[in-house]
Amino acid sequence: MNKLPRINILGIPVNPLTMAEAVKYLTGCIEAKVNTNVVTANAEIIMLGHKDPQYRRVLENASCILPDGAGTVWGGRQLGFKVPERVAGFDLFLEMMKTAGEKGFKVYFFGSAPGIAEAAKEKCLKMFSGLSVVGCRNGFFKEEDNAGIVSDINASNADILFVALGAPKQELWLNRYSKDLKPFVRIGIGGSFDVLAGKMQRAPKWMQEASLEWLFRLYKQPSRLGRMMVLPEFVIEILKAKYSGETIDKAL
Ligand code: UDP
Repeated sequence: MNKLPRINILGIPVNPLTMAEAVKYLTGCIEAKVNTNVVTANAEIIMLGHKDPQYRRVLENASCILPDGAGTVWGGRQLGFKVPERVAGFDLFLEMMKTAGEKGFKVYFFGSAPGIAEAAKEKCLKMFSGLSVVGCRNGFFKEEDNAGIVSDINASNADILFVALGAPKQELWLNRYSKDLKPFVRIGIGGSFDVLAGKMQRAPKWMQEASLEWLFRLYKQPSRLGRMMVLPEFVIEILKAKYSGETIDKAL
């Protein structure tokens, strides 16, 4: 595959593709039968990788890290990089489903509470003509279930695997089973099935455009406050890197 453009945001290698470029790249990976793990990295994911060397290695093992979240786009631009747009996990999920319907790629839904992946599947079948969802599995399981989950995914002959276990669980799971999994493209998509199934709302368009999606999520799920405390820290780290010039020069 082509070498993707890459930038360094606090030590994490991010590929600043547009949505159209990301979809084209992933379509090419399926057609060329190249295994590809995709992370859509918001500021929380970048901070976790920045602080935790083990998680950073997991991110580095991914084939493609896309700039999700207003924070990642802002951070990259502050560091002097060209980051054309945000590629949100949920939007990428929908775009890839549309492409799957058009190209005949088979998809598998793994994650979220029991019944949610199935409800998301029903919704998707109505939204995308030609779509084939070849399997669903909820995201609540024990260690001893892992082998069976991998076998079920592989037996489905899916081309694309969507994993909705939330970050960092989905990235850790995909990294652990990367060599065993048969679907060519594997994407961590957080709470996307919940949104499609109507269990969770996405921020209104104006809030997304005003870079306030994080505020909407906090309003809907106040329990996220602890996780979000890393956001001010992210801003400080970016500004420190910007004014020291350190991140830009450091080799990835
Ligand atoms: N989830 C899961 N298994 C777990 C923990 C979480 O399937 O062990 C699911 C949860 O039901 C939800 C999603 O993972 O559908 C996490 O959504 P969230 O919006 O928190 O994603 P993030 O913001 O972490 O990407």
